[in-house]
Amino acid sequence: SEKKQVRKFEAQTSQLLKMMIHSVYSNKEIFLRELISNASDAIDKLRFAAIQDNDLYEGDTELKVRVSFDPEAKTLTVADTGIGMNLEEVTHNIGTIAQSGTREFIAQLSGDQKSDANLIGQFGVGFYSAFMVADRVELRTRRAGAPANEGVLWESDGEGEYTVETIEKPTRGTEITMFLNEENLELLENYKLRQIVRKYSDHISFPIEMPVDVEPETEEGEDEEAKDTAVAYETVNQASALWTRSQSDIEEEEYQEFYKHVSHDFEDPLIWTHSKVEGTLKFTTLLYVPARRPFDMNTDFEGKRHGIKLYVRRVFIMDDAEMFLPRYLRFVRGVVDSDDLTLNVSREFLQENRVVRAMRKTAVKRVLDMLEELAADTENPEKYAKFWEAFGPVLKEGVIEDDRNRGRIAKLLRFSSTHSDEPSADVSLADYVERMKEGQKKIYYVTAESFAAAKNSPHLEIFRDKGIEVLLLHDRVDEWLVGHLPEFEEHELVSVAMGELDLDLGKSEDADDADEESEKKDETPEASEEIQALIERLKETLGEEVQDVRVSRRLTSSPSCLVAGSQGVSSNLDRILRQAGE
Ligand code: ADP
Ligand code: MG
Repeated sequence: SEKKQVRKFEAQTSQLLKMMIHSVYSNKEIFLRELISNASDAIDKLRFAAIQDNDLYEGDTELKVRVSFDPEAKTLTVADTGIGMNLEEVTHNIGTIAQSGTREFIAQLSGDQKSDANLIGQFGVGFYSAFMVADRVELRTRRAGAPANEGVLWESDGEGEYTVETIEKPTRGTEITMFLNEENLELLENYKLRQIVRKYSDHISFPIEMPVDVEPETEEGEDEEAKDTAVAYETVNQASALWTRSQSDIEEEEYQEFYKHVSHDFEDPLIWTHSKVEGTLKFTTLLYVPARRPFDMNTDFEGKRHGIKLYVRRVFIMDDAEMFLPRYLRFVRGVVDSDDLTLNVSREFLQENRVVRAMRKTAVKRVLDMLEELAADTENPEKYAKFWEAFGPVLKEGVIEDDRNRGRIAKLLRFSSTHSDEPSADVSLADYVERMKEGQKKIYYVTAESFAAAKNSPHLEIFRDKGIEVLLLHDRVDEWLVGHLPEFEEHELVSVAMGELDLDLGKSEDADDADEESEKKDETPEASEEIQALIERLKETLGEEVQDVRVSRRLTSSPSCLVAGSQGVSSNLDRILRQAGE
């Protein structure tokens, strides 16, 4: 066997992890959740790989996790019969901050921010959480299919260094032994440990075994060897995939724990939707909306890490099965399980698949149903507000991308408006319509690069004067959004900065359509000779810079403002396009 090698954790990693586990997670028992979650993932991976290569089972198809303990050695062990790791995988994966971008993100935080539990608490420390309860951790593992002498022993006290060496390991999979610190010796009690294990494993699809809880020995002088071999194990969890169980049998807490398992998130989800379809196609969806936006939309969202897990008849097939949801719902996490697909499907095959398309349509409907329900929950308005703050900008893309559901998504939109003049986006289009002035037909909005710019736009003056609400759009995507949303419930959406205005509210309906007419009537009042001279001078001076210079009724206190022609590109979009280099 190879010599023992001493290696260092990547700079900062162990220091950061240590700070995280000691300052943030007061609930130490979550290390079991992390280790069981990893074991379950490893078994999922083995079962998937074995679809192509049955030899990986090495003649032993039993898939399970075993949690055991030794009161004398003061150790706790979690062992699985999953895929295992080779030497390279161990050094690459174990005791590092796995989540892409997390390390960079944390490294950028200032000292104050680093101790902010709220901020740090959203990053999981995964495997490393074992050091919350242990002074020393040993990990033995062997990759499925590799020879017995290619086992690996990894050992560390979590302080900055670890050792690795090649060992003999007859069985495939991973075994993690924690040498418990003094404060956590109570974990060595079967009853207590069992309670914790059950809490974090009831939603796991594979059996989790623990020693049978025997009565404490009353007789002395027992044969030591007989005692060793007498340890019997029993399954302590339900060991059926959570999503296959009926909703009424699943506790809220199980749904939450399952979410943390599939998403690798450390916080509870905001909401979820669980449903089974049993028609021509048979499938189950369990979809969650996280409570907060990932710290880095780009690495987490674009990489779609831990998005949707695809299962086929309870067998894990792949992570990040993005073809089951459109891009604008990329914040959704969870599981889809199909009875109709075959086990050996490729990503390419799924992209073009009829079954997938049908499942996707249903999944979108479920998510929109769930969001509508949340938006309608008037008893807990803060929940939808939280959702909107985190994912509103992403959902808005749906108005642009999803013709079929545009109307439904439009109802879910929230904006800030001159009604409250507050930056919080809490006005729905329906709210706006309800508050429209008598005779008002259109929904007015202004777009700008910031809330303050929108709020202080000179275009608003006349609207404020007349008491007409204007939506204050200041999100980058808003410009495209309104371009794809010409109307809401038969009310045209119009920019206060474009073309002519029609604010003659008392007038007959057809004033709306008589665009050319109204331009002359409302927009261009007779200019006096004096003013006409000024206009000529302005036109001369500005030359090619402008299309026209007109007298306007828009303004009540500002002397002038820029307006885009009704067919033209708005000035805000113009700015965005110019930034994008077009
Ligand atoms: P995460 O699970 O979010 O990736 P962890 O720190 O929990 O982060 O685990 C890091 C990596 O170590 C896993 O992604 C996996 O590749 C590997 N790993 C951890 N535990 C096991 C295990 N029991 N069997 C095989 N691989 C494991
Ligand atoms: Mg993990």
